[in-house]
Amino acid sequence: MEYEVIIGLEVHAELSTKTKIYCGCSTEFGGDPNTHCCPVCTGMPGALPVLNEKVVEYAVRAGLATGCEIARESKQDRKNYFYPDTPRAYQISQYDLPLCEHGHVDINVGEMSKTIGITRIHIEDDAGKLVHDGYTGGTLVDLNRAGVPLIEIVSEPDMRSAEEAVAYVEKLKGILEYIGVSDCKMQEGSLRADVNLSIRPVGQEKFGTRTETKNLNSFRSIARCIEFEIARQKEVLESGGVVLQETRRWDDEAGEGYAMRTKEEANDYRYFPEPDLMPIRLSEEYIQNIKDTLPELPESRRARYISEIGLPEYDAGIITSSKHLSDFFEAAVAVCGNAKSVSNWIMTDIIRIAKDKGVEYNELPFTAENLAKLIMLIDKGTISSAIAKKVFEEMVETGENPEKIVEAKGLVQISDEGAIKEVVDRIVAANPQSIADYKAGKDRALGFLVGQCMKEMKGKGNPQILNKLILEHLNK
Ligand code: ADP
Ligand code: MG
Ligand code: ZN
Repeated sequence: MEYEVIIGLEVHAELSTKTKIYCGCSTEFGGDPNTHCCPVCTGMPGALPVLNEKVVEYAVRAGLATGCEIARESKQDRKNYFYPDTPRAYQISQYDLPLCEHGHVDINVGEMSKTIGITRIHIEDDAGKLVHDGYTGGTLVDLNRAGVPLIEIVSEPDMRSAEEAVAYVEKLKGILEYIGVSDCKMQEGSLRADVNLSIRPVGQEKFGTRTETKNLNSFRSIARCIEFEIARQKEVLESGGVVLQETRRWDDEAGEGYAMRTKEEANDYRYFPEPDLMPIRLSEEYIQNIKDTLPELPESRRARYISEIGLPEYDAGIITSSKHLSDFFEAAVAVCGNAKSVSNWIMTDIIRIAKDKGVEYNELPFTAENLAKLIMLIDKGTISSAIAKKVFEEMVETGENPEKIVEAKGLVQISDEGAIKEVVDRIVAANPQSIADYKAGKDRALGFLVGQCMKEMKGKGNPQILNKLILEHLNK
């Protein structure tokens, strides 16, 4: 039996406001446990929440950037459940009147582009963290994250593969970074996704029963979890079983998902309007102001890179997928003017280095300006591309200015014909066999001689001049 996979994602993004959603406590990541807390965010009886206006602004920005309709009137609701990291025993979220609805994000997978619907974006508060303490065998509660503002972005069940789901989260992450509402650091949990997945026999219209796997915080784990869950559901159906609607967890180390609890329904939460907070009413002017201050979005930058700069579509897509990377690109191009070359360095070495070091593109060990200077050294013929790779490795280690590295290490390319000729004459004289080979039609001999001369010149010989002088000998 052939199956079709149906995926819908709920993405939680922590908003990068300075203070929490209902109190003045800092949202800064880390800090000693329970030091960013007050009676409001620790759920003390009688403490009253006051909505942080920035949270509304950021959520509306996210809504506008994803083509949502913005509610002129919405409200917040209590979602009741007990969990030790939620001392109030309810989360303040939005139920039937979310701030944003009916948006979309366009994704590109290979040659295909596709629109993924966004059902809604609402605001809510984050929970605290449970720390399972191996030392005492007990569990400790850290409420520093409790009350950090979140937006939850719920997609339509429009994705059909792990690839599409990853492309969607990548695109969303890019948009949120561009509009500056979240730092989207997945390893710190600022951006995490719940995967809803079901399968149905090809041709069947009705969706199958879905499972929801919570809190995936890397692209890799999203993809692996999806593949795992597809295989699991197929096996269940093929062995004559039924897929249970359940909430699951993903164990990235084991590479396995497991059931956590059977799925709760909305009525299990006994949602009701939050009585301690006013409804949220937004004026046309307020929404227009936010619209007016939205920056250029990745889709527009991507189109510009293709049409104005002539980058290949693939490269333009990769570079604009991250605002940090795209900003890095623009900053380097502004200095050296050689967009193609900057793009090549990004597509090869820079993406690799960020991956190896596990850093974001705004945390690279060297600046865009220094990359631009390196490119200018190549363009001016001061160093060869081969030497440039060495200088670059040094920049990665030390962050040093490439001009200084070239000077300190004496790496300036030798373009003086007299100096090169002296080496060429010597190498050619020492390798008569190579000359004979070349004359006998073995072109490889040329490469060998160039290699020998380069070695002699420690890689600093100007390759064009070297080639020319050796050919003069060979064709004598
Ligand atoms: P809940 O709040 O119970 O998780 P929602 O209505 O908010 O439920 O939907 C959660 C997500 O599940 C949405 O992203 C939606 O697109 C997705 N979804 C709904 N039905 C299915 C299904 N049969 N298969 C896969 N995904 C689904
Ligand atoms: Mg859900
Ligand atoms: Zn607080």
